[in-house]
Amino acid sequence: MTVAPSRSLRSSAELIRAEEPVLAHNYHPLPVVVARAEGAWVEDVEGRRFLDMLAGYSALNFGHRHPALIEAAHRQLDQLTLTSRAFHNDRLAQFAESLAELTGLDMVLPMNTGAEAVESAVKVARKWAYEVKGVAPDRATIVVAADNFHGRTTTIVSFSTDETARAGFGPFTPGFRVVPYNDLAALEAAIDETTAAVLIEPIQGEAGVVIPDDGYLRGVRELTRRTGCLFVADEIQSGLGRTGRTLAVEHEGVVPDVLLLGKALGGGIVPVSAVVARREVLQVLRPGEHGSTFGGNPLSAAVGSAVVELLETGEFQRRAAELGVVLRGGLDALVGKGVKSFRARGLWAGVDIDPAIGTGREISERLMREGVLVKDTHGSTIRLAPPLTITGEELRTALGALETVLGQGA
Ligand SMILES: *Cc1c(COP(=O)(O)O)cnc(C)c1O
Repeated sequence: MTVAPSRSLRSSAELIRAEEPVLAHNYHPLPVVVARAEGAWVEDVEGRRFLDMLAGYSALNFGHRHPALIEAAHRQLDQLTLTSRAFHNDRLAQFAESLAELTGLDMVLPMNTGAEAVESAVKVARKWAYEVKGVAPDRATIVVAADNFHGRTTTIVSFSTDETARAGFGPFTPGFRVVPYNDLAALEAAIDETTAAVLIEPIQGEAGVVIPDDGYLRGVRELTRRTGCLFVADEIQSGLGRTGRTLAVEHEGVVPDVLLLGKALGGGIVPVSAVVARREVLQVLRPGEHGSTFGGNPLSAAVGSAVVELLETGEFQRRAAELGVVLRGGLDALVGKGVKSFRARGLWAGVDIDPAIGTGREISERLMREGVLVKDTHGSTIRLAPPLTITGEELRTALGALETVLGQGA
């Protein structure tokens, strides 16, 4: 790795201990303290190297510190970083144009975090329902799927089905209906004249990379069109190359009315999210009705534009598709040898570990000791989402490490 040596004066153990009294305990990180990174590799305070097979939950699709993204950020830091939307900035038009072009939609609402994009879409869908569809005031409903993950705000956890994410945080926002994922009949039954939108993840990431049956997304598209409500696709994790296409909905040839992007849109450098939609939908917003101090700032727009430029080459989508075959093959070979089952699309997999061998957390800790970083979800599942820049050899190294730790038994 060609990065500068560590300047940290404290050891990993000391730094972990130092966090405990001063940092909210809303996470349970693996005991690794990362100090530097490049590409698919991170290095800890002591100089130990690890393959990053999580990639910031897909926020690092282009790897750590991709040269084109770092260069775009540096260049922009030397020019202009923040204007607020009280003024125009010279980077925002290009970002919005290129993102609309990349996604085949018309208009962009730039925000920062994924949760803000979801919140914005909820507001826009409701306003569209009142102004365009003619739903009675304050009666709009939004249909969502069980086991969803759309973020952590009070409104978003209002329609979560994960008790850990909800307990103690009520009262909750009304106006949401939850139906089973991958069930078109249940979805149809939940839609009525009050329905503003159906909000789903084309692949459920946090739930363990749950891929719906072929035809489900087409069915959602047809159903929402027929019943006159919006199809809002949350591609904050599935989008921007991860599945082997620019968007996961492309696997079924579907274009939603509203697309939510985040995570990788910020190139692993700054938080950048966006609501991208048909003009008829986003034009319901008028000056003063919605906003964000940082949304669309020139640094975010410059990095976001550079991200779109990388995706326009098609290289990352192609890599995800090609290396996805390697990932799938490697996991296939482990089924029955510690892997109970797995789901994979592109460079993205949810791997259910045989509980007799260990919990997802234990497997993650063992993989860490083998120099591979992953994250568990839902007890016995681990999620693999390496940077799309990973090489075939590096991917095989990670799969070899998984085979090793599964071979260690319980
Ligand atoms: C991560 C994620 C979000 C929330 O994004 P934040 O930037 O953490 O607020 C929303 N939806 C999906 C599908 C996600 O994976």
